[in-house]
Amino acid sequence: MNILIVITNRYRNPVPVMPVGACSVADAVEKAGHRVRVLDLMFEQDPLSAMEKELEKLSPDIVGLSVRNIDNNDMQNPVAFFKDLKPLVDSIRSRTQATLVLGGSAVAVMPEELLRYTGADWAVLGDGEVVFPELLKALSQGRIPDRMPGIAWREDNIIKKNSGAAVRFSDGCLVPNFHRWINIHAYISRMSTVPVQTKLGCHFKCVYCTYRKIEGHDYRLSASESVVDTIQHLAALGLRDIEFVDNVFNSPYDHALAVCDGLAKVRPDVRLQSLELNPLFIDDDLLAVMEKAGFVGIGITVESASGTVLEGLNKGFTVEDVFNAARIIQRHKLPCLWIFMLGGPGETEATVQETLLFAERFIRPGDVAFFNMGIRIYPGTELEQIARRQDVLALSTEEMLEPVFYFSPSLDLDWLKSALCKVMAAHMNYINSNTIGFSFLPIMNRLGYRLGVKPPLWKHTRFIRRGLRFFGMDV
Ligand code: SF4
Repeated sequence: MNILIVITNRYRNPVPVMPVGACSVADAVEKAGHRVRVLDLMFEQDPLSAMEKELEKLSPDIVGLSVRNIDNNDMQNPVAFFKDLKPLVDSIRSRTQATLVLGGSAVAVMPEELLRYTGADWAVLGDGEVVFPELLKALSQGRIPDRMPGIAWREDNIIKKNSGAAVRFSDGCLVPNFHRWINIHAYISRMSTVPVQTKLGCHFKCVYCTYRKIEGHDYRLSASESVVDTIQHLAALGLRDIEFVDNVFNSPYDHALAVCDGLAKVRPDVRLQSLELNPLFIDDDLLAVMEKAGFVGIGITVESASGTVLEGLNKGFTVEDVFNAARIIQRHKLPCLWIFMLGGPGETEATVQETLLFAERFIRPGDVAFFNMGIRIYPGTELEQIARRQDVLALSTEEMLEPVFYFSPSLDLDWLKSALCKVMAAHMNYINSNTIGFSFLPIMNRLGYRLGVKPPLWKHTRFIRRGLRFFGMDV
């Protein structure tokens, strides 16, 4: 069959994210014997006409729309990406008879709502490189694959769904053939990193999380040797900025240690980073071996330094764990991005002050603190239940496609904004979602690349903010 895969993500802040999932799906579909073309809309000037040209060239039997995010998760400046799908779908429907399949992480989070909104025929719920070829096989044989796990579909205007996850990491191949499908230079020249996952799944139960819906609760680990081979393979291709994008990189601890140990032994010529460290599993041994392996930056997602809020978010670690991780990080040289989310269940002015005081005391001037406000509520999460119990959410799940956020009813938003404004003015190494959404950021990324600046860009926050302040543009 002729298959067109359209990568719909066009969001470039803070950097464009390489479409690892869609490229892996394209690899798998080609391996299954189909004729495949990938259209990446990320850098297209006129996405609609670019897609229309592809439709004409290929006359596809199936069009797969890959959807990364429903929105930008930013309460202050929300952008609803899902609305970009409607014109694409309308155009496909008016020009072809192709079957329309949705896939990508956004679709795993709200499949029914996105199927209804777009009017697409099928939705693939995660692990697309396994499920999509199976779906194609069934469709090419004229079968209705209604027992296949990991799909949703429309039947007489009723949405049906089969949950379940397929097996990945079975052949040790962790990255797709990026060069075959996308303009990789366009990404690299905007400071993008190559995403690599060493595992799928997450054992934690944070109240707002959708990742477990996408990847499941059980860990599926890639052998540490496969990870090392993959990194060496990428280095040989000249792809040197690599980011581990696991839900939590250092859990299970032994697996992370084995991966870093393997990398430290071969020491490939790469710059590694991961922004997904959990304070529970940080110790001197791990950070030392990460340094040896070639890590140039880490991120730690603590969300809060208040015990009340950590409990409210069900983070699975305590404020003592946060303090302990901070002391360990201070003993090492790795630059660290601290990630906080203010306004969760139980948040008050006093708990915000606890977090700000922690940042003041423990975050080194060369490190960076990122403060987000509010939490996107997705259907099916515990946060949705909390919000309904507290009477701060009255929307139906259908209406929740529009960005909707939780913000603690015990906290005043204006107070929080002004408190953050004050600390950001005093600390040039603090950033918030306005910084990430800064309209000149894509231009700065390109400029940084030309000047030979290496990712991660956040390491240079103090200098960037000072420069912006000089021009009266500080965020
Ligand atoms: S640790 Fe991360 S992936 Fe795991 S449940 Fe919490 S937010 Fe989700």
